[in-house]
This record gives sequence, C-alpha cells and structure tokens, in this order.
Amino acid sequence: RVKGKWAATLAKQPATSLALQHFDATYSGQLGELWPSIRVALLSEKKYGALFNNFSHESTLAQLEAQGCRDFISDTGTEAQPSEVAVEEESNCVSIKKSDIDGQLLSPLQLSPHIKCLVFPRGDITRFKPARPDMYGLLGYYLMDAASVLPVLALDVQEGHSVLDLCAAPGGKTLALLQTQSIGFLCVNDSSVSRTLRLRRVLRSFVPKQLLTDEKLHISSLDGTKWGEVESNTFDRVLVDVPCTTDRHSVTEDDNNIFSKSRTGERRRLPQLQLELLLAGIEAACPGGEILYSTCTLSQIQNQSVVEQAIFLAQENHGIRLQVVDLKPLPHMFRKTFHFAPNLHLGEMVIPHLAANFGPIYMCKLRRLS
Ligand code: SAM
Repeated sequence: RVKGKWAATLAKQPATSLALQHFDATYSGQLGELWPSIRVALLSEKKYGALFNNFSHESTLAQLEAQGCRDFISDTGTEAQPSEVAVEEESNCVSIKKSDIDGQLLSPLQLSPHIKCLVFPRGDITRFKPARPDMYGLLGYYLMDAASVLPVLALDVQEGHSVLDLCAAPGGKTLALLQTQSIGFLCVNDSSVSRTLRLRRVLRSFVPKQLLTDEKLHISSLDGTKWGEVESNTFDRVLVDVPCTTDRHSVTEDDNNIFSKSRTGERRRLPQLQLELLLAGIEAACPGGEILYSTCTLSQIQNQSVVEQAIFLAQENHGIRLQVVDLKPLPHMFRKTFHFAPNLHLGEMVIPHLAANFGPIYMCKLRRLS
C-alpha cells in the first residue's frame, strides 16, 4: 500500500479536481437534486452573450440578428411585464427570516432601454465571431456571460446618477453601465493595478474619448474595503461585484485557480473580504441610494450569508438601516433565457443549465434607508 503522504511519485491533484471535490461536498447539500445537472453544465462549454456597443458605428446589430441572435433584454416575448408581476405579488409579500431585514420592497424594476445583449437561442451553442473595429477603432460588441448583464440591469441607473463600480476589472459590467448613457459621474475601481490597466484598454476599445474625461469618469486602483473611510454617503448607485471562487473557472481551468494549494488561505478569506467590500459599498452609497452585490459562485456562504452579515453590521457599526429590494421580476421576465435558482430567501441566482449555459451569477439589491 502506498502511503500517499510520503510517496514522492504520487501525482499532485490538479486544482480543478480539488474544486470539484469541494463543490460536490458542499453543493450537493446546498442545492440538493439540482446539483448533478448544474455540475454537468459547469463542466460543459459556457455560452456567451454579445453586449452591444451603442458607441460603435458598425451595423453590428443587424449582422448579429441575421445570424439568428436576439436581444434577450427587449425580447421578453408575451411574458408578463415587471409591473404586472409586482402587482400580482404585492398581496403575497415574501417574508425574510432575519429580524434585521426590513422586508422586501416589491416595486417594479425599471430596465435601461439602451442596454442590449444578444444571445443565440436556447440549446444553440454557436460561438460569436470576434467583434470588428469601426472607422474610429471602436468595437461593435463585448463578449461576456449574458447573465453578468443582469446585476447592471437590476442596479437601475437613472439619469444623472453618480455611480461607483467598486471591483470593476476587466470591465464588462462597467461597459454595460456606460451603455445606459444616463450616468452623471462614474467612479471605477479595482485594487489590482494590472487588471485596472486591462480595464482602461477595454474602455478605450469601446467608448469614445470624449466620454472618458475626468469630469465624467474617475479610474482608481484602491483597496475597495477602505472606500467608505475615504468617501461615504456619496453615490446614488454602487455595484459591488466581488472576487469569489469563480465556480465555472475553478472546475475548468488549472491556471490561476483559487483551489490550488498555494491559494488556500486566500480562498478561505474570501467571505470576510466580500463582507468588507459590501460594507464599504454600503457606506459609499448615499441615504436612499442602492447597492447591488454580485458574485459568480453558487456558494451560500459567499452569497446570502455575506449579505445577511452586511445588513446586520451596517446597522450595528454604522447605524445604517437597509431594505432588501425584491428582484423577483427578473426571473419572471428572463425565464426564456436563463434558469434561476428556485426559492432563494435572499437575492436571485442564475444557475447553469445545459440548454442555457450561463452563470452562475448571484445578485442581491439593497436600499439605504438611512
Ligand atoms: N466587475 C468585473 C467585470 O464585470 O468585469 C469583474 C470583477 S471580478 C469578479 C472581482 C475583481 O475584484 C477583480 O478584478 C479583483 O482584482 C478585484 N478585487 C479584489 N480585491 C479587491 C479589493 N480589496 N478592492 C477592490 N477590488 C478588489
């Protein structure tokens, strides 16, 4: 018998296998009978969406539609509109167990009419061709997980809003925010200097120079957990798209994998980092302002538990009362495009599915009452 601990020849387990073992152990309990199907989808080729670039002069939209794509945001078909959903559900208010949560707010979600994201039909895994530059060098679309657009839609940016994107690189959601063409001032931050450089390159490839001036946009590479100390009670909208176990990447790519043995400490510290980032985002928002927390993991510890603790600590340590904004209209509106986890007690989550292999994307929206 080989004593694994001492056998020099025993192959090291790849990080992807460690990730899968970890997920099998935790998600089979958390997700029950949903887990085997999500597992297969996570291990299969993921689907992209093409975030349409309103600033490009290419006739990209028509070209993509001719290839069989559709804008999933405008194409909610004959399904109920969000306001109808809200009315339906008002008499049936979802109650939240934790006493610190004031109750879900059942108001209709407003979606920016300018954000367009094209996807191939359900079950169609055709790949997008790389986007081409127009005569000004701007690209026609940005390829991303189509479910990543949902946190930006849910943030509901209104005309003239000041917006903070606390963990922004490489910039997919920043680009989606800019597509709204409503933002008064945008602060974009990521603690990683190299990733912030990448973000700058992305912005230059998609956004005209005149929209990237200091009066409209500020880019920084600060530790987001400290943001509340520097600038508090300021922003109308804050996006807190935190680092997480990036579940799909973790089971498919050994490079830069958070389950590699050398990154165990970093992985274990993630929930604390996420909590500190969300608290900083809450502090940075103005009273009445709204904060959107998002991840690309299925983990309850990195999702709902972080939000619950942040709601409690914001009140305890900073005297900030928060309300959870109901995002139920989203799964209702976009059920043709995505699969959503059923019955989450806090927030909404797109779960990977073989016929619609987007996500995972978790999101929860909070409103500052004080
Ligand atoms: N929002 C981005 C997008 O849509 O392209 C993806 C963000 S990614 C999920 C999380 C980011 O958080 C990483 O780029 C990472 O560098 C950044 N990050 C990690 N720790 C941070 C911190 N303490 N403060 C700010 N950003 C941080």
